[in-house]
Amino acid sequence: MPIIVQKYGGTSVADGEKIKAAAGRIVAAKEQGYDVLTVVSAMGKTTDALYELANQVTSNPPVRELDMLVATGEQVSIALIAMAIDALGYPVISLLADQVGIRTDTSHGKARILSVQTERIYSEMAKGNIVIVAGFQGVSENDDITTLGRGGSDTTAVALAAALKAARCEIYTDVDGVYTADPRIVPNARKLDAVCHDEMLELSSMGAGVLHSRAVEFAKKYDVPLYVRSSFSDEPGTVICKEVSGMEKVMVRGAAISREDSKVPIIGVPDQPGVAANILQAVTKENICLDMIVQNVGHEGRTDFTFTVARSDLKTTLDVSSTIVEEIGAEGVSADDSIAKLSVVGVGMRSHSGVAARMFSALAARKINIQLISTSEIKISCVIDDDRAEDALRAVHDAFELGEDGTLTV
Ligand code: ADP
Ligand code: ASP
Ligand code: MG
Repeated sequence: MPIIVQKYGGTSVADGEKIKAAAGRIVAAKEQGYDVLTVVSAMGKTTDALYELANQVTSNPPVRELDMLVATGEQVSIALIAMAIDALGYPVISLLADQVGIRTDTSHGKARILSVQTERIYSEMAKGNIVIVAGFQGVSENDDITTLGRGGSDTTAVALAAALKAARCEIYTDVDGVYTADPRIVPNARKLDAVCHDEMLELSSMGAGVLHSRAVEFAKKYDVPLYVRSSFSDEPGTVICKEVSGMEKVMVRGAAISREDSKVPIIGVPDQPGVAANILQAVTKENICLDMIVQNVGHEGRTDFTFTVARSDLKTTLDVSSTIVEEIGAEGVSADDSIAKLSVVGVGMRSHSGVAARMFSALAARKINIQLISTSEIKISCVIDDDRAEDALRAVHDAFELGEDGTLTV
């Protein structure tokens, strides 16, 4: 039988009624002739509540224990979904990541999946069981519980779909699909029928929380047919695929903001070869990803060196940077949490100029100051004041005519 993988996010399993509705959709897929594997996230805001609980005990929880705690949310929801399916009269089994064999590296809180076992899943399917797997969690090479980062259940689903060569992977969530921007912030955002892998990868990495970026990486690498759909309707949703017709004609496909980053300026850095490498090596040795990296033009032998990191990595970044500041004889390091990153994404940018000018003019018209800029072939990002983030997103969305009224083509 062909295999279908479905994933239900937190809002889709937020209470008993929603769990029963999800169970109904899962058995409907079984009735259509699929072997069904479902990945489930923690109910509602459970994961937030678990992080908050840790925070009440200590401001600096050991990362291993934090994963041990936050991974529990998914155990509750898989058991409840399995009970709801059982009540409908279908054979079902719930499994934790450990029982499936989802192995990850040891980076607690942002672990990467290294391998996925399929034996247990196939043997349960052979018995006729619908298989329910806990999202977000894995087991490290040291046999410790890990988590894949916020939103990581999407990645569990796509990784399993890839390993099982599933016919399709459906991500059920609380919106109808992928929009040109977060529809909760931009009221006239438009639902996209299709988005290509490269654009979705950039949108997800740049803050479009609707899909975890590593899920898109898996879908691209293993050619998993991936759909984002609403768990509250039967609309077809958005397909994430290799190519979208006429995709080069659209200058910008979508826009996103990320409010999870911090800016770290290192001031008065000696303007000599090798200094930037020293700073970057020290930070990346701690398994921290730097995003935007900017070095100013030097004056009198010194320069300023600024980068952004995820807010969750800020403390470690500052610890490491303080040491390196002393070693290289820089003047100091500080941090700014009140920033947001605004990005526009589109493969059409490869062949068309004027995107940056249009974006920056839209921001200038609203007197929004740009602090840092970075570009790639299909993306322009800038750091702005966090207070202006939503306003800025609406401004660029309008500037590229992304709304219901049409897309700017060139
Ligand atoms: P789930 O719990 O189902 O995984 P998430 O909250 O992780 O749901 O993701 C869905 C949310 O992503 C939506 O409610 C929406 O606010 C947000 N979002 C951000 N950017 C986009 C976008 N471009 N398209 C659709 N939704 C988006
Ligand atoms: N429950 C986890 C979170 O809230 C994983 C997920 O929802 O995908 O981030
Ligand atoms: Mg999510």
